[in-house]
Amino acid sequence: MLRRIQVGLLAVSLAHFCAVQASAQERYDLVIHGGRVIDPETSLDAVRDVGIRGGQIVAVTEKALSATRVIDATGLVVAPGFIDLHQHDLSPAGVRIKAMDGVTTALELEIGPPDVRKFLDARQGHMLINFGTSASHPWARNTVMGKGAAEEGELVPRAGPVTDNPATLEQIHRMQQHLRDELNAGGIGIGMGISYTPGASRQEIIEMFRVAAEYAVPVYVHMRGNRLEGVGEMIAAAAVTGASLHIVHINSSCVSDGPECLRMVAGARGQGLDVTTEAYPYIAGMSQINSALFNPGWREKSGLDYSDLMIPNTGERLTKERFEQLHASPKPQAIIIFNNKQEVVDEVMSNPLTMIASDGFPGHPRNGGTFAKVYSQYVHDRRTMTLMDAIRKMSYTPAVRLEKSTAAARKKGRLQTGADADVVVFDPEKFRDQSTFEKPDVPSTGVRYLLVNGTLVIDGGTIIEGIAPGRALVGNKGR
Ligand SMILES: [Zn+2]
Repeated sequence: MLRRIQVGLLAVSLAHFCAVQASAQERYDLVIHGGRVIDPETSLDAVRDVGIRGGQIVAVTEKALSATRVIDATGLVVAPGFIDLHQHDLSPAGVRIKAMDGVTTALELEIGPPDVRKFLDARQGHMLINFGTSASHPWARNTVMGKGAAEEGELVPRAGPVTDNPATLEQIHRMQQHLRDELNAGGIGIGMGISYTPGASRQEIIEMFRVAAEYAVPVYVHMRGNRLEGVGEMIAAAAVTGASLHIVHINSSCVSDGPECLRMVAGARGQGLDVTTEAYPYIAGMSQINSALFNPGWREKSGLDYSDLMIPNTGERLTKERFEQLHASPKPQAIIIFNNKQEVVDEVMSNPLTMIASDGFPGHPRNGGTFAKVYSQYVHDRRTMTLMDAIRKMSYTPAVRLEKSTAAARKKGRLQTGADADVVVFDPEKFRDQSTFEKPDVPSTGVRYLLVNGTLVIDGGTIIEGIAPGRALVGNKGR
């Protein structure tokens, strides 16, 4: 009898022991072991284990953690996944090249789509990485001023009366209502491409900023193409309305005046205005050749000539005749614009105010290479930027920019307990851009693992097929 009881007790305690072992193992869905963990918000830069459960980071510790799947990150950098505030190609296929560049959230904030609800619904449940969009002023103007639907592949409304004519006050009010509807549908900012809508008056612009202030979302703006004056116009609109302002691609909007434009941004911030900016690390921009950017007088305004324009993938430089043929065509042909100098780009990129954003679209190397290029060029090769500063510009400061308008951003851009498990793990010797102006759509190398909401989307350098863990970031006042 005694013997039987003893055996029974032994069985119970063994079962208990096994249960404890099993639960210790199951505490994490996944562990990233022994990598160099970077968290810009807390300035953590140390070898740590990262435990992930239920899509969140639940442990960052010096202790070795165990799980069914342990990724050995010895010698690798473990950082918050990059947040690209400015990505135009958000097709399910298009975001694969972003993932290879370390991006876990890609947002179309500059121009925005013609219809926010359609844009979000089409992607929900189909995206490799997180996504979101602004409410679009150019498309609101397009709707109100009477043009029909967008052409296939058209990023911005083509030049014509809808972009070039001034709007009546009644039309401006209808644009405002259109933007409110788009924000209610989930937009996380107002996107303005004022270079593409030269008919927009100062008043029209200010009225759009008023809607942004009403919804407490930033205006993401490609300002008019006159550098300091453009920055001045935007800062004035932010000051008189109370709207937050984000100036997109300050490198290509201000070109050689970039450093001075950044001093204006710093000055506005010093006066208490919420003004931020971004840049991409290339000496050329890209646009659509039949847009209003190339309205008569563009050469005088920009100081550029036909031969500064190149057709993507072909290397063909334009002549006057070729330009006129393409500009008059309804086909939305992309065009590379060589408009900047390397030393100006370098100075703009290293400014602490500059966030990294790609303005990505197929045909320009920035689409696939922006984030790896910032790392490989400035951190690895030239050592003009620290790893911490680069990661901050690529993840944390973009998350902070987004926080006011979408609560989801408070859990992004951080490698901390409680943050979403959006994580990039890259090889510091191999993380490098591969896309060039000649061959623009080649994915970057060196991202070994990428997690989106706790799900591995890149495993051992290869994209996992058939999964879609990306979620929409939507506005606080939206759905
Ligand atoms: Zn732009």
